[in-house]
Amino acid sequence: MKNKINWSNYFEIDEAQYEYIRSNYGVDKFLGMGLMPVRGPKGFRKLDYEFARTQLNVKEVMKKLDQQHFNFLGLVIKDTDGACLWNTEFGWNPTQRDILGEFCDAGKDYNINVFASFTSMNDAYQGTIHPERVSVHGRSGKKAGFRYKKGQISTHLEGEMRVDLPEGMSFEEYHQLIPFLTENFDEKIGKARGDRGSGYIPTTSFMCPNSEHVNYLLQLAKELVNNYPIKGLIADYIRYDGGYTDLCACERCVRKFRAKYGPKPKLLTSKEWYEFKADTIVAYGKKLHETIKTNNSNCISGWFCLPGPKKMLSQKRLGQDWEKLSSIFDISLPMEYPYLMGTRDDGLFWGKLADFFYWYYIRNMKKRAHEFKNPVLAITNSVECNTKEMLKQMRGFNFGYGVGLFKYYGTSEEQWKAIKKYAETELNLDT
Ligand SMILES: [Zn+2]
Repeated sequence: MKNKINWSNYFEIDEAQYEYIRSNYGVDKFLGMGLMPVRGPKGFRKLDYEFARTQLNVKEVMKKLDQQHFNFLGLVIKDTDGACLWNTEFGWNPTQRDILGEFCDAGKDYNINVFASFTSMNDAYQGTIHPERVSVHGRSGKKAGFRYKKGQISTHLEGEMRVDLPEGMSFEEYHQLIPFLTENFDEKIGKARGDRGSGYIPTTSFMCPNSEHVNYLLQLAKELVNNYPIKGLIADYIRYDGGYTDLCACERCVRKFRAKYGPKPKLLTSKEWYEFKADTIVAYGKKLHETIKTNNSNCISGWFCLPGPKKMLSQKRLGQDWEKLSSIFDISLPMEYPYLMGTRDDGLFWGKLADFFYWYYIRNMKKRAHEFKNPVLAITNSVECNTKEMLKQMRGFNFGYGVGLFKYYGTSEEQWKAIKKYAETELNLDT
């Protein structure tokens, strides 16, 4: 293959660690597909509980994945809305269906590993019922036309997901089920990444990682690992909201920060503050990993990493310390989505823009690969890009052990064919 990058020159990972992952999953090369049950039958711009409740066909999904040689499924059992798609005692499940249980059963029939993606700090439902646990702005500002004040909680209009009312249901009725739904309506569909949905706009909340929300998450994790034969539990949104630099300045966080660093270091902007944010996320990561391992030592633990510049994004905004987090969890999953920024199918400008991001993401990973202390498997997108762009990403971000794709619904027939061929000819998964 021309221009193939030899990633083993960049990652400093012990072969024994990979062996542990491989033997747990029983596969040599990974080919994964993500599925978001609440995002409807097409892309990921909808929030659609009706689809998850009545139309999602678990057996059909697993059969299709098996035919294309996939060996694992990344099931988003808790998305940013906060719904818990399993038989839960502690969480909120508006689909009233044990979707995780159904996939675990089907996974056995088809020999496909199921791992669960678990959104952590972003939780619209919890933000509505527990506003006191939502992260708090440390300064006043304006974003996407909306003003917020210092001291206000960080519950904002959602950027990505839109909601259609189910047939025969009024807004008021649906609001009973989805308490974070607003009457704001988005009609336009655009080509930029944040502009592709239409429908009612829900709110979104990033919870404070020093609040009771953490205990709620651990309670859910324990329930999951104890009751379901999942092969992995991967923390998504294990971070602060990347859209702001002034979170979280709630009383809890400020008190904790002062207790550790004294009165001198500045809130929000000091080196100590960034360290405090990263350590807060690390503390949650440790607790989650321990919860998983104490309850099922064979369940792989992992975290989704948002690639980008170390100082400006990882430290100042997200609070994601790659070295520390990858030292805790068994596996790291960077989300490499350059062709979500645009696609050539929308015109030359969008194609060029995404090509630039592809170049940037590759360079960023070469530069930062040494920060990972555990095996790394990238997730890239199959939706909202064409087949050529998808294959380019699958090859570029295969760090040596395969790749994961995002996501099942929205992948075109042409893409499914190309994935199958890739699995057979480049990953040798056709046995
Ligand atoms: Zn806080």
